[in-house]
Amino acid sequence: MANILVVGSMNMDIVTRVDRLPVPGETLHGMGTGFHAGGKGGNQACAAARSGAKVAMAGGVGSDAFGIEICRKLEDEGIDITAIARRPETTGIALITTDSSGENNIILSPGANYSYGGDDLEALDLSPYDVILLQNEIPGSVNRRIIDRAEAAGVPVCMNPAPVTGFDRDQLRGIRLLIMNETEAEVLSGMQIVSFKEACSAGRLLLQDGIPQLIITLGSQGAVYMDGDGKILEIPAYPVEAVDTTAAGDTFIGAFVAAYYGDNELADSLQYAAAAAALTVSATGAQSSIPAKEQVYAFLE
Ligand code: ATP
Repeated sequence: MANILVVGSMNMDIVTRVDRLPVPGETLHGMGTGFHAGGKGGNQACAAARSGAKVAMAGGVGSDAFGIEICRKLEDEGIDITAIARRPETTGIALITTDSSGENNIILSPGANYSYGGDDLEALDLSPYDVILLQNEIPGSVNRRIIDRAEAAGVPVCMNPAPVTGFDRDQLRGIRLLIMNETEAEVLSGMQIVSFKEACSAGRLLLQDGIPQLIITLGSQGAVYMDGDGKILEIPAYPVEAVDTTAAGDTFIGAFVAAYYGDNELADSLQYAAAAAALTVSATGAQSSIPAKEQVYAFLE
């Protein structure tokens, strides 16, 4: 069983459905509001835990009701929450409005996600973990400190540079495994990606920075794995009816890391991750659509 530490974001997603998005200054009636635990850190931790990994989560939430609820949900997944810091700031909140055509507006207030660091970070013992999983929803300085400490402790770091805004290739130093979608790969490589072929060219360029292993996901076109030894694997997506692609990437990452660092073969771990992500796109919601490993194995049979 992989022992994984996720250091990253936890948000409460507040989602309201409307007929159409409001124009500035306009008030509209919503057609119902849902509260969903989210954030890339929380989602990936949840995906890894449902894939059977032992998972600990570190990051900041507020001392408010949302922070309590997020921690409770993570604990229900069997995730160790002792390294989550309660902060005076509000819990990270994503205010999401979706209209009947599927268009949306999102306002993300990072709140306590941006106040995690300092003494809490220094007190984290990184040595027990098989891998540390990071995203770009907490300050780059915190990620850098984790990467440097992990390197000193001999623990590999997997980075998902999402969202890619404000992320650059200098921040890849010390990363063992980079997992990104095509948009992130385009920004980091400066190359346009429309298919497997361009993804390989972008991947080759990024490997030149000394990253040992990388994966570029391509939505319904699947994914590509590449490493510094010249290995290239194409991972086709499973043909499913895409109902809601939210959290497909987070599921792929959490499931892959759980499988691969749980001592499964590389090709099997990639196939497992693609199956888990296919199940996620077949259902609505974010964390609610992430499958358990029994569902993934049943799908693969
Ligand atoms: P998101 O931001 O929606 O969470 P992402 O852009 O980070 O996703 P994608 O590249 O869209 O990530 O998807 C990750 C993986 O999920 C893909 O490599 C593929 O295996 C699977 N996947 C995505 N979309 C589909 C689809 N329509 N059908 C089957 N599998 C899919």
